[in-house]
Amino acid sequence: MTVTAERAIPFFAPDLFEADRDALLGALYEVGTDPEQKFILGRRTARLEDALRTRLDASDVVACSSGTSALTLILSAMDIGPGDEVIVPAFGCAPLASTVLSQGATPVFADVDPRALTMDPEHAEALVTERTRALMPAHMFSVMADMPRLRALASRAGVRLVEDSALAQGGVLAGRPAGRWGDAGVYSFVQVKIFGMPGEGGVVLTDDTDLAERVRMLRNHGQDGRNRFLHHHVGHNSRFDEVMAAFQLHRMAGLTERVDRRTEICSYYSERLADLADAGVVAPPVGGDGRFPYVYTLLCEDREGLRDHLAAQGIATHVYYPRILPEQPAFSEHACPGGHWPRASEAARRNISLPLYPHLSDARVEHVADAVRSFVHGSTR
Ligand SMILES: *Cc1c(COP(=O)(O)O)cnc(C)c1O
Repeated sequence: MTVTAERAIPFFAPDLFEADRDALLGALYEVGTDPEQKFILGRRTARLEDALRTRLDASDVVACSSGTSALTLILSAMDIGPGDEVIVPAFGCAPLASTVLSQGATPVFADVDPRALTMDPEHAEALVTERTRALMPAHMFSVMADMPRLRALASRAGVRLVEDSALAQGGVLAGRPAGRWGDAGVYSFVQVKIFGMPGEGGVVLTDDTDLAERVRMLRNHGQDGRNRFLHHHVGHNSRFDEVMAAFQLHRMAGLTERVDRRTEICSYYSERLADLADAGVVAPPVGGDGRFPYVYTLLCEDREGLRDHLAAQGIATHVYYPRILPEQPAFSEHACPGGHWPRASEAARRNISLPLYPHLSDARVEHVADAVRSFVHGSTR
């Protein structure tokens, strides 16, 4: 069967910012012609930080150059370095391991919960040693990590809690937003994330004012923002772009509406797909608390079969993390020799994600759900 281009459903929407094109051009013009000629860390960045601070009831929000950099700045501000261990999930994106290694510290990989796909608090607890300095769980796809248990574990063990909430904007667990459970949390604004933008950027969120001040200095070469060329710390270049700040301030007005539409699509997928578990297609856990609509990820025994079946109907899918972190060439020498992460490995073998973006029409969402059902049942019923 051939599928015409206009019926095909891409996984990464090429037109995410189509409706905001004029706003983006306006922001570019405004910043470019502003007599101040300040292109980074100007008043628009400060306004974006303020807006997020208010929205999330955080003492401090520090905008920086990416989600990855936000994690690096936090670890660096916490003085985590050689000889220190940070417990991270074995299943997830590269920055979970690389940011720890870039500090000269060692990532210690914990297995994940088989459904939530987030760090298993019990395994994490078994990995705590006298060298452990922090736990760094990550929320994954559409499910927040078990933050109440991880918070309690961090307190009990006397270690810091770094919350990799890069992709979880909009998530709320027990009344507390994603990013607000850790000693510090982060968001990423890279294109495809829930509050994505056409560029690189991120933020650090924290109530720890000393930590925030340190992060603020570290993002700009260790300077304090008052005394130019006085470097208190060995810092980074992790500054935020004024054009993107103006664009994000513009986009924030529609954020709740976009999150709601994404949530609606996830709910529809779950309604249609939740009964397929016995047939080897497992939908993500449903229920509002601690859920957020970033990526809708199924676990499927015959993943390649499902991928091909959907592709034949013009539906593109994506496999995030086909390989666990401790088995990546870059990280394997730092992983516990002979270690096994069976549930992380299962997740890597079975995960497959469906298209999900706010402007996906109802008809297309139905088409995707029908197509997944027909893979299992040979019909759309
Ligand atoms: C996207 C992401 C990051 C990295 O953010 P960037 O802005 O791409 O650097 C880190 N952790 C998780 C869980 C992410 O999803």
